[in-house]
Amino acid sequence: MQILDGKACASAYKTEIAQVVSAAVARGTRKPHLAAILVGNDGASETYIASKVKTCAELGYDSTLLRFAAKVSQEELINAIQNFNEDATVDGILVQLPLPDHINSHDVTLAIKSEKDVDGFHPESLGRMMLGLPGFIPATPKGIIMLLQHYGIRTSGMHAVVIGRSHIVGSPMSVLLGRNTEPGNCTVSLCHSKTRNLEHFTRTADIVVAALGKPEFLKGNMVKDGAIVIDVGITRIVDAHHPKGYRIVGDADFNSVAPKCSWITPVPGGVGAMTIAALMQNTLEAWKRNIGH
Ligand code: NAP
Repeated sequence: MQILDGKACASAYKTEIAQVVSAAVARGTRKPHLAAILVGNDGASETYIASKVKTCAELGYDSTLLRFAAKVSQEELINAIQNFNEDATVDGILVQLPLPDHINSHDVTLAIKSEKDVDGFHPESLGRMMLGLPGFIPATPKGIIMLLQHYGIRTSGMHAVVIGRSHIVGSPMSVLLGRNTEPGNCTVSLCHSKTRNLEHFTRTADIVVAALGKPEFLKGNMVKDGAIVIDVGITRIVDAHHPKGYRIVGDADFNSVAPKCSWITPVPGGVGAMTIAALMQNTLEAWKRNIGH
């Protein structure tokens, strides 16, 4: 079993990006600029945003974080997005999800100018991905493809099972693995909560992408020998013995699954790290277009 080390891989991508940025800035070009919006005080969202802002600083990007109370109106939020849309110094805009129930996330995503949609959630970005046209690919599935590429894993002809069909992870992942590219060219089964006999699918999978948000759901007896397991899940589990009072677990039960795998991503240090690297890559692409590179 070998570890798909998302942290190390993300670090390699980030080093390359930082070099591109510092060379351009030395020539007098402005820095890439990511604008982020955070609503409320959800602990996990705070952690994700803090890590995105920190990574911007590490790579030499400018970042702006706009915070709103949970009771913010949808109109106020959309106004803030429109200001960022019109600001020529902003390359990418992201709104940290989930949003409070009184806000329609689809309307908020639609308000982001597609040229600045670095999270890749806008219908135009998703449509471009479906058609194989250049555009922003949602950061988590893009990060997983970057990870497979980094390790030289060839997936052509494999049976890939994606568990979870969300618009931000599972569905785009199934599209990317099924595309006529490498990594890609898989025969894909997209499973969800209504799938009958899920184990039948997972036991025949060469690759399992677990993205259902159920901690340690995928057990060793559900995967075949030599499988590649990509664990997208991130759940905080209360743990009094941990200094933070919680620990992070994935959707795979690492102890029983890992011994059967050829490759597996750890949690933490796997897909999460790659998601941020992919977001930074999308922002870099937006910036390059804006500065005419
Ligand atoms: P989501 O929107 O809640 O979607 C969960 C999906 O899993 C749904 O399609 C659901 O099916 C399916 N599902 C739920 N229970 C199932 C079961 N017992 N068997 C089969 N399928 C089941 O979740 P998400 O936003 O995609 O996130 C999934 C996980 O990834 C979460 O733990 C999240 O925190 C994590 N995540 C991690 C990153 C990262 O960077 N590592 C990024 C994003 C998300 P239905 O459609 O039928 O309801």
